Amino acid sequence: MADDNLHCPRDGTILISPETTKHTAFSQHGIYHCPECAGLALHAKAAASAISAEKLEELHDGFTDQGAPVEILCPFCIAGMRVRDFAFRKLDGSLTELIEIDGCPSCSSFWLDASELQRISPTIESYPSNQETSTEKTATSEAKTLSIVLEVLFHLPFVLI
Ligand SMILES: [Zn+2]
Ligand SMILES: [Zn+2]
Repeated sequence: MADDNLHCPRDGTILISPETTKHTAFSQHGIYHCPECAGLALHAKAAASAISAEKLEELHDGFTDQGAPVEILCPFCIAGMRVRDFAFRKLDGSLTELIEIDGCPSCSSFWLDASELQRISPTIESYPSNQETSTEKTATSEAKTLSIVLEVLFHLPFVLI
């Protein structure tokens, strides 16, 4: 079982899988999250929701022959990942801030640093800090907020920059 663990491409921490997480947003969208840095790893094939699977396949096409190589390795297949900027078109027609997404050119997987989603999530700073504030709890609560942002993005068309 230990061999099945995926590791955070940033800090090597074992990622929490969509099967073991208590958050439905994570299990539905096939999101693995890092309890250390709150980064999110997604895989089209792990997504239980048709919307996210389709969106991830679509995003994947943007990485197969484009994007810049990055230093990090795909947590799923250990291929070198690529990075590119995406903007999402909001319902009012305006675009979100650019979001840097790391994608694997081999499998349909993605890595999102917590800081990327934070940029378009104005409420992220305000989660309660009066209770236990272990790094793990904070990262999990942060990841949960980020997953909601991501869920919103899944419903918006994206624009290649
Ligand atoms: Zn991490
Ligand atoms: Zn991969």
